[in-house]
Amino acid sequence: MKVESLTVGPLQTNCYLLIKDKSTLIIDPGDEGERISQFIRHYSLTPSLILATHGHLDHVNGVRKIQETFPLPFYLHSQDIPLLGVGKDTWGDLFLDNIDVPSPTKFIDDLDSIEWEGETIEIIHTPGHSPGSVTLRVGNFLFTGDTLFQGSVGRWDLPGGDEATLQQSLKKLSALPDELLVFPGHGQTSSLQKEKQTNPFLLSLS
Ligand SMILES: [Zn+2]
Ligand SMILES: [Zn+2]
Repeated sequence: MKVESLTVGPLQTNCYLLIKDKSTLIIDPGDEGERISQFIRHYSLTPSLILATHGHLDHVNGVRKIQETFPLPFYLHSQDIPLLGVGKDTWGDLFLDNIDVPSPTKFIDDLDSIEWEGETIEIIHTPGHSPGSVTLRVGNFLFTGDTLFQGSVGRWDLPGGDEATLQQSLKKLSALPDELLVFPGHGQTSSLQKEKQTNPFLLSLS
């Protein structure tokens, strides 16, 4: 099992492809759906599912373009459905005429995990950046979306965000094993150990 990442869109979102043999899970296709589809075709990958860590446009704007090529299901937490409709107000000119709001085919609220290619994808509800933010844990990989970044955390001042709730979610992540690799929604890959030791937002948790 390995992870490939493509940085997409005006906010430089990390779209991750989790690959086992040729089977592929697409996480946070925030934009440039055609480029993501081309990558999948180029390496003869077989995608089976699109998952979003949350509903902000910069994590889901490429979903529909991918679905034009690969008719895949798209899973999202239902509490982020209201965010899907606020693209233009929140993101201003960033996405211009490019806004392409997807429709979830399934809500992941009630799922503790998803079985995929013999692996268990654990769904950890980590609200605060948005009400429906989730962190996905697969083996030693942790996909944290905009909840936890290398050296920082996501904003809590956008609609539906809440600082105290985010802190509770960060405590939940802090309790996970040090050896987990952190794949955030933006910026560099890290490890949970490094974040626990150096991230001021984790160090300040009481
Ligand atoms: Zn976000
Ligand atoms: Zn983001």
